Amino acid sequence: MDGPLSNAQTRDVEALLHPYTNAVQHRKVGPHVIERGEGVYVFDDSGKRYIEGMAGLWCAGLGFGDSELIDAAKEQMGKLPYYHLFGGKSFEPAIELAEKIKELAPMPVSKVIYQSSGSEANDTQVKLAWYYNNARGKPEKKKIISRVRGYHGVTIVSGSLTGLPYNHKRFDLPVDRILHTGTPHFWREGRDGETEAEFSARLAAELDEMIIREGPDTVAAFIAEPVMGAGGVLVPPADYFPAIQAVLERHDVLCIDDEVICGFGRTGNWFGAETFGMKPTSISMAKQLTAAYAPLSAVAINQDMADAIEAQSGEVGTFGHGFTYGGHPLGCAVGVKTIEIYQRRDIVGHVRRMAPIFRAKLDALAAHPLVGEARASGLMGGLELSPDPAKKAAFCEPGKVGAYAADELLKRGVISRAIGDTLAFCPPMVITEAEIEELFAPVEGALDAAHAWAKAEGRF
Ligand code: PMP
Repeated sequence: MDGPLSNAQTRDVEALLHPYTNAVQHRKVGPHVIERGEGVYVFDDSGKRYIEGMAGLWCAGLGFGDSELIDAAKEQMGKLPYYHLFGGKSFEPAIELAEKIKELAPMPVSKVIYQSSGSEANDTQVKLAWYYNNARGKPEKKKIISRVRGYHGVTIVSGSLTGLPYNHKRFDLPVDRILHTGTPHFWREGRDGETEAEFSARLAAELDEMIIREGPDTVAAFIAEPVMGAGGVLVPPADYFPAIQAVLERHDVLCIDDEVICGFGRTGNWFGAETFGMKPTSISMAKQLTAAYAPLSAVAINQDMADAIEAQSGEVGTFGHGFTYGGHPLGCAVGVKTIEIYQRRDIVGHVRRMAPIFRAKLDALAAHPLVGEARASGLMGGLELSPDPAKKAAFCEPGKVGAYAADELLKRGVISRAIGDTLAFCPPMVITEAEIEELFAPVEGALDAAHAWAKAEGRF
């Protein structure tokens, strides 16, 4: 945004510390103030309309202004605006939503425990894995293996699980007992002449070696997103998860499935685990659980873990974990309505119908001289930019060209996200064919502008 800062921008700059924002840059350019949303569009405070090509933060699956969700929220606020689940208290929307999760989950779920965010869900996962292994007499079995470029949140433990440098640098993370194994990004990480199956087998062997090196009796769990979102929309090869699963089973290592982005239809199935052959022992859910109309997350656990927790009651007494707002009635009521809408409007079917159209748009852009790889799963996708696509080259100063391209796209009325030099797209799942057309129409022009700029700046 050019020109002097507006009143709202000045007030923002004086009062807010923005997440995932360069503070010095922000002081210069100010915030982009978004005022309202409607369908797949948002409008800023100058009245300019944007197609929300990222569904906010991969989460507004039903777009903006859905009257059914607004009504469900209002009704719950009027009836019971707050309650909790501590000390055996309960309320109907929390029960109903847990039943829905049990019905839809891609694994036999025994119990559901709520939080407010994806980070809290993954923190809870680690605590449950530790609690479980203490309960079954394996107090040494505590290490958690995550992946380089995985994203699992920003709390001390979930931020440690996240495998991205800027989430660790200056934060003294990762904490101990958290390890990172390789990224299943074949285009970037595959070796010359290696097939996808061989690549997957190599990553599984790497994990196997890591577990053996650390000692299987010290490794509690492996955590993974079906598709890595914030790491750059990295879609694993088909053989990857089956190969990984075999290693986990061999060493009695839990499989934590982080469905915070992929859950509830994003990849064309209810859960990404179904799309990629993952066999979870527990699942983290958030974001599209409520279509992002209210904060809520959930962890679903299997019978073994539920039994182990119950068996501790004699010795430990109360189960000492829970958040004031975990399972907030607003989130639960909106969650129940969201899932009812997903089912009634067949949103998963819609994602399946739109996915080939979305994919074709990305594939067509793969021929652009700035694009190295186009990748997608369901309605999430990315274009990895490269100064020399044939050589899969990376830019000498990562992230600059990606950010420039996203900015050019914003000027043309499309909100995307630059993840390093990958341009990510994850529109509301309700997007229509005409809106997909509109989303991609300005992309080539934005890439041309970024290409010309990168050349002029000597970034090749
Ligand atoms: N897991 C995944 C896969 C995510 O994408 C995110 C957020 N982008 C999180 C966890 C963390 O969620 P939150 O920001 O709600 O803490």
